[in-house]
Amino acid sequence: MALMDYKVDQGWCNRCSNCKFIPSYRIKHSETMYVCPSITEYNFHAYSGSGKLMVGYSINDGHSELSESTRDVVYRCTLCGACDYTCKVFRKDIDVAENIEELRKECVNHGLVYPEHQAIIDSISENGNQLCKDPAAKIDWAKGLKIKKVADGDQGEIYLYAGDTNNFTSGLAKRTKNVASLLLKKGIDLITSGVEEPTAADKAFDLGFVEAGADAARKLAEEIKKSGAKTVVTMDAHAFTAFRYYYPRYGVDLGVEVLHITQLLERMYLDGMFTVAAAEEPVKVTYHDPCNLGRRSEPFTCEYEGDKRRRPMELTRTGDLGVYQAPRTLIEAIGNVELVEMDRIKGWAWCCGNGAGVAEIAPKLLKDTAANRVTEAQLTGADQMVTACPLCEQALNQAGGMKTVDVLDLVLQYFA
Ligand code: SF4
Ligand code: SF4
Repeated sequence: MALMDYKVDQGWCNRCSNCKFIPSYRIKHSETMYVCPSITEYNFHAYSGSGKLMVGYSINDGHSELSESTRDVVYRCTLCGACDYTCKVFRKDIDVAENIEELRKECVNHGLVYPEHQAIIDSISENGNQLCKDPAAKIDWAKGLKIKKVADGDQGEIYLYAGDTNNFTSGLAKRTKNVASLLLKKGIDLITSGVEEPTAADKAFDLGFVEAGADAARKLAEEIKKSGAKTVVTMDAHAFTAFRYYYPRYGVDLGVEVLHITQLLERMYLDGMFTVAAAEEPVKVTYHDPCNLGRRSEPFTCEYEGDKRRRPMELTRTGDLGVYQAPRTLIEAIGNVELVEMDRIKGWAWCCGNGAGVAEIAPKLLKDTAANRVTEAQLTGADQMVTACPLCEQALNQAGGMKTVDVLDLVLQYFA
């Protein structure tokens, strides 16, 4: 698909602005009525999902040309998908987020690329990671574990994918090791690549470099094939969106079932494989839905080229098929832990701000977006926030005001 293929979507937008707010019947506080971090930060229509449809329409119609100003608007967006979700509550015929992805591809095709983003793409091919890190700095979290390795010629049932952020951050690598250790203790037939793990390259897709992303994805697909696994379980929510949405969309077939780690743990818990302890003191927590575990991760269906007004529901990506329940099941399993929900949850969730290249070029957008979420969490009266994505955890903790932990920390503390 190309930007021109979205001309109908662009033309059908009626500027109702539902892509900027949660529906009025859901609004509980003035602070939590917005859904789009970009329009909330910059307060100019072009920054909204609708505005980007107008930008696309204008380019397709020859009224404007791609320019650095277009690039600045298109990348000051966390690609959180909230505009797409809220629009589809009322309209099933407009793919708002896909239009943003196409604008990004168009920027790349015209060389309108931020150097900071180009460095990420170069790092994927040169360093095998999207963090611009020396590969030698990768942490060997699998060392000392009796875990099967692809490089040793082993075969296993479940391929554990850690992801770049977990592989290069000491505390997160340790957590990955502890989770793998728990799974092994429960008899799960795990296999991994350890320090040889290829990157999922999710950022390449988010940034519009889809060919670089597909090249890297094919390497990871080959590695998973070698492992003999029937299931890939990812510790990284952004990789989850890549595996379920971007890879099939760009022709890379992993050929295995895809699960997020919280889904595997939920299955094991529901199968009675854990005993779960209770917290010593009553504690209230609230859960932040990561966009890339939630609405953005909804599986790709097909490129629908017919009249979208007649598109069957099962071929419409609404965002409702994201993973919302698994982390909540794990939290609610712990005695003395009360889950109190924020106003904007599940498909309506407010983004943490740490997505799709925003950290590299618009740090204030990231900071303000994360602070907005912390304010919402404080309104619940919770003692701490729980999430299920390393990037959300980092952004929310950097915002301050409330401690954020990963649901995996709670699992490691209370599940045995
Ligand atoms: S993108 Fe959808 S929700 Fe936003 S203004 Fe257009 S029609 Fe309304
Ligand atoms: S993807 Fe998120 S940040 Fe970007 S326009 Fe849509 S709602 Fe706003």
